[in-house]
Amino acid sequence: MTDATDAVDTPTPRRKPKAAAKTIGGRELKPSTLMMGHGYDPVLSEGSLKAPIFLTSTFAFENSAAGKRHFEGITGKRPGGAEGLVYSRFNGPNQEILEDRLSIWDGAEDALCFSSGMTAITVMLLAFCSHGDVIVHSGPLYAATEGFIAKVLSKFGVTYIDFAAGATRAEIDAVLERAKAQAAAQGGKVAMVYLESPANPTNALVDVEAVKASRDAILDADVTPIAIDNTFLGPLWARPLDQGADIVVYSLTKYVGGHSDLVAGSIAGAKKWMDPVRALRNTMGGIADPNTAWMLLRSLETVELRMERAGRNAEKVCAFLKDHPKVDGLGYLGMIDDPRQQDIYNRHCTGAGSTFSVFIKGGEAEAFRFLDNLKIAKLAVSLGGTETLASCPAAMTHLSVPDERKAQLGITPNLVRISIGIEDPDDLIADFEQALAAV
Ligand SMILES: *Cc1c(COP(=O)(O)O)cnc(C)c1O
Repeated sequence: MTDATDAVDTPTPRRKPKAAAKTIGGRELKPSTLMMGHGYDPVLSEGSLKAPIFLTSTFAFENSAAGKRHFEGITGKRPGGAEGLVYSRFNGPNQEILEDRLSIWDGAEDALCFSSGMTAITVMLLAFCSHGDVIVHSGPLYAATEGFIAKVLSKFGVTYIDFAAGATRAEIDAVLERAKAQAAAQGGKVAMVYLESPANPTNALVDVEAVKASRDAILDADVTPIAIDNTFLGPLWARPLDQGADIVVYSLTKYVGGHSDLVAGSIAGAKKWMDPVRALRNTMGGIADPNTAWMLLRSLETVELRMERAGRNAEKVCAFLKDHPKVDGLGYLGMIDDPRQQDIYNRHCTGAGSTFSVFIKGGEAEAFRFLDNLKIAKLAVSLGGTETLASCPAAMTHLSVPDERKAQLGITPNLVRISIGIEDPDDLIADFEQALAAV
């Protein structure tokens, strides 16, 4: 007797070509080319050039055996995940195309999309942590990430140790040794090394190569993945998987979405690291909705154009701000003073990004006068959109950070955070010039 599932040798045609071509005559196609069509076959959707938005909660099986087979994939009974679409909490066509295209930018085997950057981060952390485990993380982290590790995971017996973003190999070694001992004492493991680079708002870079060397020397590389939040420089200016990170994390809300009109997140890496997270996402929910996934497909077509333009704009604006008499310094990756940070930058980054800090001479009053006089730049938190945004971290995003920690991180009241958009650079300079004149 044959297993009923064996009868299904021709799965339902998918909108997705089985092995989408990523090469032409041996030439590997660039991400900017692949963003226009990879992972989608118009023939399977009535010839629609762009993927339709699949607004459905569930998917019809071609027969019972196929349904069984799909569930074997979903539940992990059969390795490799679901071969077909089952239910929209698990996946959908728009999300699958998005995940295929996201993985291209980071050179990852697989990717998962989520309803927000924080959903991506929290579901991933939960998937890897058990009671008694230790998380090692660089600091500072995005405030909600730091809060989740310190205040939520601690409720489930997970502890953490952090190290300063700019730490050296020797300092990282010492922290990992301490974490290993702490995990042993708690009866757990070091569940993850979690990084964020550059740190916000200090722009301090983490040496991912040093973290990998240290992890490989002290911990088990099959047990403790290195994850990194690449929201500030990705996907264009940094590819941390190339420096030895295992999982790359994004708030797609920022540069990838790029138009300040959606909230989403993702992770990418080898299948073996994605599978446990996918399983938990299947249980908890938190996948991006079809409409948001579709918007992100549109955004990905121009992500390189937008980021290149924003990066060039930031370079021009910073060249103007650098020597302005009312400016007390810049935190911009294109103008690093510290030789070690410059060395990390040279090894890890292909561009300085378009998000930086400017210190206005004076204090909060002067920073506020500058912000309140901007005419093109909008006064808002977030970054990576087509429009230029400015904010004051000490009084806004980092208001709840204790004063002592703020001082330690260099988050002074006169620090203004700027995300440069794709406007005309000379118009932006004119705006900053008149706002500084009003200080
Ligand atoms: C915005 C942001 C997040 C959180 O992303 P959401 O999409 O807002 O949930 C995480 N990390 C960094 C570095 C961010 O800038």
